[in-house]
Amino acid sequence: MNVHDRPNTPLLDSYWMPFTANRQFKAAPRMLAAADGMYYTSDDGRQVLDGTAGLWCVNAGHGRRGIAAAVERQLSTLDFAPSFQMGHPIAFEFAERLAAIAPGPEGNRLDRVFFTGSGSESVDTALKIAIAYQRAIGQGTRTRVIGRERGYHGVGFGGISVGGLVNNRRVFPLLPGADHLRHTHDLARNAFVKGQPQHGAELADDLERLVALHGAETIAACIVEPVAGSTGVLVPPQGYLQRLRDICTKHGILLIFDEVITGFGRLGAPFATDWFGVVPDIVTTAKGLTNGTIPMGAVFSSRTVHDALMHGPEAQIELFHGYTYSGHPVACAAGIATLDIYADEGLLTRASELSDHFANAMHALKGTENVVDIRTIGLVAGIELASLDGAPGKRAYDVFVDCFEKGLLIRVTGDIIALSPPLIVSEEEISTMADMVGDAIRRVG
Ligand code: PMP
Repeated sequence: MNVHDRPNTPLLDSYWMPFTANRQFKAAPRMLAAADGMYYTSDDGRQVLDGTAGLWCVNAGHGRRGIAAAVERQLSTLDFAPSFQMGHPIAFEFAERLAAIAPGPEGNRLDRVFFTGSGSESVDTALKIAIAYQRAIGQGTRTRVIGRERGYHGVGFGGISVGGLVNNRRVFPLLPGADHLRHTHDLARNAFVKGQPQHGAELADDLERLVALHGAETIAACIVEPVAGSTGVLVPPQGYLQRLRDICTKHGILLIFDEVITGFGRLGAPFATDWFGVVPDIVTTAKGLTNGTIPMGAVFSSRTVHDALMHGPEAQIELFHGYTYSGHPVACAAGIATLDIYADEGLLTRASELSDHFANAMHALKGTENVVDIRTIGLVAGIELASLDGAPGKRAYDVFVDCFEKGLLIRVTGDIIALSPPLIVSEEEISTMADMVGDAIRRVG
């Protein structure tokens, strides 16, 4: 299979694309060939405005020379070093840099950092740390993990078990005992809200229900995305996260925030933990950690969790877990350069300056035919469309294709359009994105 009108396009047969309808895509491929700042260049030479920061990850925008230079330097200094029983300085340096901005209040930050290679690995790592922690404090019966409907926690077996997406789960065996809170999406009570919806804090009490059902002594951890991203930008109702925190504390359950999307400035604070002022025990990250450039994730743990696992005989490995690429030197170099850019340009809080304009621009689409909800927080928006009878997701997919053809990259999930531009975006570009999405929705009809 080839793209006949684009002579430089390679054969498409061998690459088995992830989370993509391969046959449909290969019949009409969309290719991104280069990127700089807020724009991609498609393989046929068109400029495409990046409304999604790649996949919620390129927070500092594309083509950052500082990151490229740091990666090149690191590659020619120390390209790889074994991650087990050996150290290399840059991994320690990066962890210390992260510790200084780690989620949580000054003096009580989750500043113990375990490196992974992706968001999925971060989630599975966090679940394993939670279970190991419970065992270390004499709570070995706590092996059950609780997630939430419409949660997305990557594609490891742990992640799909606590995740709440049927398509990701139905074919595969899951972790025994995993259970779910109900999701918080409630259009009847909370449509067209800017920021946190008013109604639904009581949905956190689902955790009490699961405690009553299973027994607290069986539950190790509860994991949620502070703002669910991949399943359509679901913003937590006011008071919800604090209530979840309180129930977890009451029952000795660890609370994990999956901040793979919300981490590194998406909402207007370095982490959603800080933005909402609710402190979990463990935070998972990836994506913005290296500005999407080199695959990497990081799990932040409280000292309580970390220190409980540091007991036992001195020469014994504390946690039998880790990856060949944990703390990869080149990824660490990319990460440090990324943190430098975030700090120099104030990007970790910039979303708070832009969020009013962003919310107003997106909510101006209210009234557009087929738009049934608009949700915004920080620099992330979900625009929900009415489902076409018999073809759920088709309308949003058509909008996505139309936008790409007109020069805007958006993300769609089911009938929801998600926008999450790089944090360097201008007000003008935000307005352009909203206009282009509105035009596309009207064209698709
Ligand atoms: N958790 C969340 C909240 C995510 O949004 C994602 C990816 N979108 C993941 C985990 C998985 O990350 P990765 O694709 O890097 O494995």
